[in-house]
Amino acid sequence: MIFGALEAGGTKMVCALGKQDGSILDQVSIPTTSPDETIRRIIDYFRDKGISALGVASFGPIDPDKTSPTYGYITSTPKPGWADFDLLGTLKKDIDVPMGFDTDVNGSLLGEVTYGSSKGISDAVYITIGTGVGGGIMSGGKLVHGMLHPELGHMRLTIHPKDTYKGHCPFHGTCLEGLASGPALEERWGKSARELGDNDLAWEIESYYIAQALVSIILIVSPKRIILGGGVMHVEKLFPMIREDVKKELGGYLMTKELSDLDSYIVPASLHDDQGIMGAIRLAELAYLGE
Ligand code: ZN
Repeated sequence: MIFGALEAGGTKMVCALGKQDGSILDQVSIPTTSPDETIRRIIDYFRDKGISALGVASFGPIDPDKTSPTYGYITSTPKPGWADFDLLGTLKKDIDVPMGFDTDVNGSLLGEVTYGSSKGISDAVYITIGTGVGGGIMSGGKLVHGMLHPELGHMRLTIHPKDTYKGHCPFHGTCLEGLASGPALEERWGKSARELGDNDLAWEIESYYIAQALVSIILIVSPKRIILGGGVMHVEKLFPMIREDVKKELGGYLMTKELSDLDSYIVPASLHDDQGIMGAIRLAELAYLGE
């Protein structure tokens, strides 16, 4: 059986064919332009491939509530042409197979807990720190949606004493995304995350914000594992810094076996940036199974 997978991003759409074990048989990347042109190319790709179901992990905000009249829509995005766009409905007109739909970050989380180093963990959080900051949450084996879906990239933080940056988020300025995303780093320091090298203060501040956010997540969601992905998290030296800051911020308050081993608790994404598209394969399988 072949599943279709679509990782819908603001700059590119990754389309793939995959199998139940998460293996990717074929993969193409289509630039995200106007909805008309982009959707036509996506449909051209999946047409006649004999897929049994399609999983869509999309940039958002999206409406993932199956009982809602706007289920399957990309909702309030500032991306031109894509606001209030019926993504799933438009695909369904030409590709009539069961479809699963979720956020890109829930997709990545699903990929990691299905096929990655966090396989089998029922309570986990995946956070991407890249162009934007977003997070997916799984609690008791279920991806969390609620009213909409978690938007933990926009949580407010205490400003680092040495940081004078005004923040990059158009809505909040200095939220987590506004302070710690790739574009925030670049605007604050005039260099990309990759080029920052040994600018110790930059990494001290970056770790401070990420750790602060993780502590809030740990206290509110109580995950058994936190997975960090996205372009900024390719800077490996951030991991030990973040773990150290999390320990400091928690102040010894929580004593669990997970927190006693932070190297295994706060981990990098393990699927070589295929976690999103692999999660979409799993979304397709779940849709096929009617789950
Ligand atoms: Zn924000």
